[in-house]
Amino acid sequence: MGEGAEFQVYKRLDMEVVSGDGARVTTADGRQFIDFYGGHAVASLGYGDRGLIDALTRQAEHIQFQTNAVEMEVRRPAPPPRGAAPPPPPRELAAAAPAGLDRVFMVNSGAEANENALRLAFRATGRRRVVAVERGFHGRTAAAGACTHGNESWYGFPQPPFDVTWVRRDDVEAMTAAVDADVAAVILEPVQGIAGARPLSEAFIQAARQATAAAGALLIADEVQCGMGRCGTMFAIEHSAVTPDIITTAKGLGGGFPVGAVIASAELADALGPGSLGTTFGGGPMACAMVREVVARMSSPGFLDHVRELGEAVTSRCVRGPVKSIQGRGLLLGLVCDRPASAVLAGLRERGILAGGASDPAVVRLMPPLTISMAEVDTLSECLADMGPAEQPEDGPSTREARS
Ligand code: PLP
Repeated sequence: MGEGAEFQVYKRLDMEVVSGDGARVTTADGRQFIDFYGGHAVASLGYGDRGLIDALTRQAEHIQFQTNAVEMEVRRPAPPPRGAAPPPPPRELAAAAPAGLDRVFMVNSGAEANENALRLAFRATGRRRVVAVERGFHGRTAAAGACTHGNESWYGFPQPPFDVTWVRRDDVEAMTAAVDADVAAVILEPVQGIAGARPLSEAFIQAARQATAAAGALLIADEVQCGMGRCGTMFAIEHSAVTPDIITTAKGLGGGFPVGAVIASAELADALGPGSLGTTFGGGPMACAMVREVVARMSSPGFLDHVRELGEAVTSRCVRGPVKSIQGRGLLLGLVCDRPASAVLAGLRERGILAGGASDPAVVRLMPPLTISMAEVDTLSECLADMGPAEQPEDGPSTREARS
């Protein structure tokens, strides 16, 4: 590493991955890892999945791309005639979303989805400010990055495009007070991913809904990481009694193909005319083929039950070794550790397990393929036990005192 033509902007692990099968990846030097990181929560159906390979291959053989200026079966807005091909992915995605959110704009990434959701909110309200939640992450583009907490070290643009009011996580009063007649939208992750798989409290999410409704502002649920089955429901917001005005999603949506989506009410979407939003690649046929397969599989009986069951298994079996407690939902979980997450991650890698860090340095983040097996959860549990709890200071003076 370090000698190629690439920008050196990623810290890389000492491994070259060459193939994957199910929840496992194999490296060039023949090592195998169970991937509890899922490539940043992207590999929702795991690796080497026959359905995804067939969907992509079939579409590639048919036609790999055409502009949004032409009609295509994969994005046809009208229901297909009886017995015709399965419904187009945008319609399937809308059908899988909470009632009232039935328009979809396909894009290429999570940040682009948030960028467009925010644009929609500014357009719809004519206002100038956004309320965002501390520790939240929404992407690195100009608007999404502006409402990402702690962006100072990388934001890079001379100034953010709008003002942001930050609210402390789960501070109901602060949320209610922050949303006034100047606010276009509140943006929040129902389960904060990069913060360490932290669900926001139901009272906080409800306060955001009530305050936005009262002030004529929009509520945007960023489900780029916590959506698409990850939390054991198609969208994480289904765990609460709230329907947002917009859901954004990406990551697991394409099972590995870059794709994102903005899902909004007809009222918001139908106010837009041609030219108000656009993208070259968004909603391309290859991405749509993958989305169709992912949504169909996640909607199939038992799929989300498996996610919930495996999430519960991790939660009940993995509070061992360095792990003091576990937070999160479904298979978006944060292992709260008794030592720096970096040490736990290194120990897990030595034992053949990949996992992720979080902005909280004590949290190891798990977001494996949603198809991961119980046996693989058991292996994780055994590896954690093998790492042992933090060394307790012996009776008598503490280690530090003994040294001094
Ligand atoms: N929103 C959330 C909650 C995320 O976790 C991420 C990425 O990790 C993004 C947005 C940005 O997505 P992308 O990297 O696809 O632009």
